[in-house]
Parts: sequence; C-alpha cells; structure tokens
Amino acid sequence: MIVRGTERIVANADELCALDRAIGDGDHGTNMKRGLQAVLAKAEDIAALPAGEALNMIGRTLVMTVGGASGPLYGSFFLAAGAAIAGGRRLPEDLVDVVAAGVEAVGARGRSTAGEKTMLDVLIPVLDTLRAEAGQPGLIAQVKATARESTERTAPMIATKGRAAYLGPRSVGHVDPGARSSCLMVEAVCDILEESL
Ligand code: ADP
Ligand code: MG
Repeated sequence: MIVRGTERIVANADELCALDRAIGDGDHGTNMKRGLQAVLAKAEDIAALPAGEALNMIGRTLVMTVGGASGPLYGSFFLAAGAAIAGGRRLPEDLVDVVAAGVEAVGARGRSTAGEKTMLDVLIPVLDTLRAEAGQPGLIAQVKATARESTERTAPMIATKGRAAYLGPRSVGHVDPGARSSCLMVEAVCDILEESL
C-alpha cells in the first residue's frame, strides 16, 4: 500500500500542483511527494511493525516531512488511526471505526467539516460508504466510485478553510487539491485490496 500510494502521488504530483496553483500556492504535489517518499524510504521498517505502530510511524513521518497545511492534517489521520488500534480496535474487523477515528482527527485538527472544499469532502463520503456498504460484495468498487465522485463535487464548492478560503467565491470551478490527493490514496489502497482478494 505504501509503495502503490507513493507511486500514485508521484505520478500525479504535477496535477496536484496545478490544482493548488489555481486556488492555493501551487505546492501540494511537491509537499505530498516529499512526504510519501519519506514514508517509502521507511517502508520495510513500517511493514515490520504491528498495524497500530505502523500507522503511527506513517503519521509522524508525514507530519515531519509534508510541510504545508496538509502535513499535520494527513499526519493526524494516521496518528489517530494508529491510536484507535492501540486502544483495542482491530483490523480488518474494526476498519470503519479506525477510519472514523482518522477522519474525526482531521476535522478536529483543521476545525473543518464537510462542504468546505477540503480533503474532508472526500474522506467523509468514503467513510460513509464504508459504513453503509460494510460486508457487501461491491464495497471496494463503491469506495473508489465515491472517492472519484466526491472529488469532482468539490469543484462547485466555495472554500471556507485553508489557503483557498482567501479566494472566497473565486475558488468555485476548481477541484480541491487535497480532495484529489485523498482520492489518489484511497484508490491506491482499494486497488491493492482488489488485487489481493
Ligand atoms: P498549504 O495550503 O499550506 O499550501 P497544501 O497545499 O499541501 O498546504 O494542502 C492544501 C490542502 O489541504 C487543501 O487542498 C485542503 O484539502 C487541505 N486543507 C487545508 N486546510 C484544511 C482544513 N482546515 N481542514 C481540512 N483540510 C484542509
Ligand atoms: Mg499549497
């Protein structure tokens, strides 16, 4: 998952920068590429750890290396997901609760919620789909479809959080870069799961 997630972000880093140039400062692809490559450099160590500690190490690495608003936000996701496992949750049984802990932490850290044209506009619908479709045969395909559709749905939104909020109504018409990076990572994880089932 780390290898595939990093490949996907690196391959699309220019697109993420272009999206961020439209409504931010143009660095989202560079930030994410730096962070994911730092995680990739530790992939063997991370993979050798129990799930909770692995998620914690991914979170700490992202916080230290991504830079920009997205670093602490994605970092919070993985730190909280790791903490949920340290608190007794198990994978894969408690996947919904583990992802919910991560999504909640992003909202708490960013003081943000759905509809503000951020990564949460992908992460929250993905969590909702996981919850609604848990145990159903088409789950992974549904999650991927949700990730893609919810990314597109950020285009007409007015940004009220992050750098894009300075643009106000002028942020309309552009997909949010953090929504797109969330979509790419969700798709990468789903692809691996589909291939391994
Ligand atoms: P910066 O804005 O500091 O340059 P990035 O460009 O790396 O950082 O990340 C921008 C992305 O971070 C946005 O597209 C958005 O998805 C996300 N983001 C920014 N602020 C928030 C927030 N308060 N809550 C959730 N996500 C946010
Ligand atoms: Mg930026």
